[in-house]
Amino acid sequence: MKQLEERILRDGQVLSNTVLKVDSFLTHQVDVALMKEIGQVLSNFFKDAGITKVVTIEASGIAPALYVAEALEVPMVFAKKSKNITMTEGILTTEVYSFTKQLTSQVSIAEKFLSDSDRILIVDDFLANGQATMGLIDIIEQAGASVESIAIVIEKSFQNGRQRLEEAGHKVVSLARIASLENGRLEFAPADV
Ligand code: 5GP
Repeated sequence: MKQLEERILRDGQVLSNTVLKVDSFLTHQVDVALMKEIGQVLSNFFKDAGITKVVTIEASGIAPALYVAEALEVPMVFAKKSKNITMTEGILTTEVYSFTKQLTSQVSIAEKFLSDSDRILIVDDFLANGQATMGLIDIIEQAGASVESIAIVIEKSFQNGRQRLEEAGHKVVSLARIASLENGRLEFAPADV
């Protein structure tokens, strides 16, 4: 997605050889017009896939996921990273190691929001080593639902997330793919959309 790549080049900050900061438009402050465009691009791509729900993980996946769900006219469900007292009914949980926070946390979705007839599109802000996405897949499969595809805003192709997901039989569609962040220089690989 050309517009996204241009924005990453303009406003992304390379923090290290492995970490990109995009807090001015995606992970903290959110550019709503850009999210809307992401929603349009992904809904065009998946319009015939029979998606019934978009699933993401809090917090930074929520903004893009919401606009994809709006464009596909389906609900969006986000996995929660901590249980709270209002989650009294059956919940599906899994453990996820966070690449950026460097800690493992339990994430959950109430089982009433997923069913075995659901065809899920997972949407997330970043794909690094695939831990967040693998956790979501685990929860979705516990519910008996199927994962149609995984849509990623920014994939870091030099990490092994895509490979792990593809080896597990999943389709990955990334709007921007970063080949390298070495020595402060950002290089793209060809994106899927
Ligand atoms: P994974 O689970 O694929 O290893 O990492 C994906 C998650 O870690 C994303 O949901 C995102 O929140 C966070 N993440 C991974 N790499 C980066 C990065 O370079 N920059 C930012 N801002 N977040 C990242």
